[in-house]
Amino acid sequence: MEENGIRLARDGRALCAIRLTASELADKNAPANYAAKELRYYLDRITSVSIPLLDTDTPFDGGSVLVGEAAGLDVSGCSEDGFRIECGGEEIRIAGGRRGVLYGAYDFLERLGVRFFTPTCEKVPTDPALTVPPMHVREEPAFEYRRHNYADVEQYPRFSAKRRFNGTGSLQPRMGGALTYAHFVHSFDTLIPARVYGAEHPEYFALVDGKRVTTDGGRTQLCLTNPDVLALMIEKTRAWLKAHPGHRLMSLSQNDWGGNCQCENCRRIDEEEGSPSGTLLRFVNAVAEALEPEFPDVIFDTLAYIYSRPAPKITRNRHNVCVRLCSIECCFCHPFDACDDERRSVKRPDGTTSKFITDLEDWGRIEQRPGRL
Ligand SMILES: [Zn+2]
Ligand SMILES: [Zn+2]
Repeated sequence: MEENGIRLARDGRALCAIRLTASELADKNAPANYAAKELRYYLDRITSVSIPLLDTDTPFDGGSVLVGEAAGLDVSGCSEDGFRIECGGEEIRIAGGRRGVLYGAYDFLERLGVRFFTPTCEKVPTDPALTVPPMHVREEPAFEYRRHNYADVEQYPRFSAKRRFNGTGSLQPRMGGALTYAHFVHSFDTLIPARVYGAEHPEYFALVDGKRVTTDGGRTQLCLTNPDVLALMIEKTRAWLKAHPGHRLMSLSQNDWGGNCQCENCRRIDEEEGSPSGTLLRFVNAVAEALEPEFPDVIFDTLAYIYSRPAPKITRNRHNVCVRLCSIECCFCHPFDACDDERRSVKRPDGTTSKFITDLEDWGRIEQRPGRL
């Protein structure tokens, strides 16, 4: 032990061991096992010594880097991605949720100066007498779902984990797996297809210019204030979730075009809410409320997209509902708050228009899931 921290190596010799419980050391799929190996890989490169990886019972004359269960830290308050790091005395302890334990290891390495720029470009400092200062870290991500579809992220799961993207489908179990969708966006037509229900139940579908749009491929939306549509959506969503277990996200979202329902009931709510996102969010909230007892871990998400981009004035998303705000119309030549291209505005039911930056601020004010998981 040093006065100002824990020395991990000196004179070409390891002064500490990385430790796991015997069961996590034996389990190649345990994220703590992978986290310990990542720590060993980088600590070896920093110090130019070989730091042993041992179980907690094997004797070693020196300090310990305790990972996962071996750390003995209370992580009951951590989300799947949250973690704790405690450095003091002769011990460094790193533990967290399913992915959090690995994120804790990477966070620790970054605090030592390691940087993960691309799959093939990293910075690893050199310090043959590496000393770790005391630290007390507790972290939860501000964004619960993080995904990027650049090739470097999708094709290299190890890099994806290092960058703490948790929505990359290729993340392996040892990396804590991914937060994935049972059904990705634009799910309404899959769940209640016009080609199946249109002929018998035109009232399930959007009224546009005085007519229900029900033809197959007719680019319709659902009439979200029809209680039969709600009941059917609850039933279909339940069946979909049962058929696709292991996924924590379920998108309940409009089809990939316009044409939202103009029937009397839908219009009245849209006008009251100042946006068609009002009928949409009330509908998604109702499905999420009905299914929460059966699927308490599932997050029901929806799109704020084209006509539903402006936030509603009254309704807020339930705690198990999440909104994906889409910037598809935006100009990316200027910052969102500086762009003055009016053609990129969205028209509200009262004829006024809203800018993306205003929509972002408005949704930010009503969002009910800050950092939750
Ligand atoms: Zn309607
Ligand atoms: Zn612009």
